[in-house]
Amino acid sequence: MAGQNFSDTVNLAARLIRRRSITPLDEGCQDLIYSYLKPLNFRTEAFYQDGTVNLLALHGKGSPFILFLGHSDVVPPGAEDKWDHPPFAADIISVNGSPVLYGRGAADMKGSDAAMTIALRDFVQQYPNHPGTVGLLITSNEEGDGAGGIKYVAEKLKNMSLIPDYCLVGEPSCATQLGDTIKIGRRGSLTAHITVKGRQGHVAYPERLINPLHQAAALIARLMEPLDEGSTDFPPTTFECTNIKGGTGAENVVPDECWFMCNWRFNNLQSAESIESQVKKVVASLHLNCDLKFVLNGEPFLCPRAELCLKLQQAIEQVCKIKPVLSTAGGTSDGRFIAPLGTQVLEFGPCSATIHQINERVSVTDLDTLRQVYQVLLEKICLD
Ligand SMILES: [Zn+2]
Repeated sequence: MAGQNFSDTVNLAARLIRRRSITPLDEGCQDLIYSYLKPLNFRTEAFYQDGTVNLLALHGKGSPFILFLGHSDVVPPGAEDKWDHPPFAADIISVNGSPVLYGRGAADMKGSDAAMTIALRDFVQQYPNHPGTVGLLITSNEEGDGAGGIKYVAEKLKNMSLIPDYCLVGEPSCATQLGDTIKIGRRGSLTAHITVKGRQGHVAYPERLINPLHQAAALIARLMEPLDEGSTDFPPTTFECTNIKGGTGAENVVPDECWFMCNWRFNNLQSAESIESQVKKVVASLHLNCDLKFVLNGEPFLCPRAELCLKLQQAIEQVCKIKPVLSTAGGTSDGRFIAPLGTQVLEFGPCSATIHQINERVSVTDLDTLRQVYQVLLEKICLD
């Protein structure tokens, strides 16, 4: 759609998409974002760690302190020739009469990065002496292993006593229509590597064997039993076995061990500790000899239905004219590193239908509406 004028939000989103910032690369995205805030005297701090770049830009002082959280990295595009429009070209195409922005990161989440940036710029331009602190934090390693990312920066914020009261993560939260969903929390994620140790031997002499494959099967069956029935805000905790290995390759040998990996997505009735102790109890009751290694990917968090939640709901109803659903579905996000600071954390961003897919795209109108929601939220937090 050459020759048509688009908003600063859409233009910034397009400029960000044109940078191939495949995780954990930033490729100058954060400098570009900062260039919009610099003329308004935002204070900045850059954190470099493990090849990851993080930008913190703040304006104002004291409470209320609201921080937007985003990421400049994207997942790889996959086969570029399968895209209808090149993944880093940021083409804007008319679909059924409405402009749509194509590209890797359009929805996850360079579109929101742009909307947050322009909302902050316009808010500070309009209210240069606003009460409280507003700002944003952008990492270049959300889609990768997260090393040197928000977990690292959260520790720095704590050391600097820069604890936000409120944090809004711009991750794509909506299902079919902008405004339909706010993510108010996330389930926890715990992985276990379990090695069941038996005694190897000839299959024809079962009395001489301890078969670790049978034992692993019995253990998995017990771990599949439900841990809870879910809470008010969360579905029941789930267990899935993801990998299993055992055997020497011979048909007449029982191996000496069986290894499997499994993962729990758990609600706020559980903790990593409660699940680990339950596993140990089951192992003991089955009289198994096991090596257990647990990896905690994140504890669950739930945002209280307090100021941030109420004001975001109001902002969405005012701008989008629909009532958002409060949801805890989906995977983890960087919000899990900010919530333990005692900050109210919510996620609200564009529709997630095409994220991480070929032909990722976002409605241009939605980006402008999103910018408006963010700006109304800033006004409600700082000025009401
Ligand atoms: Zn994302």
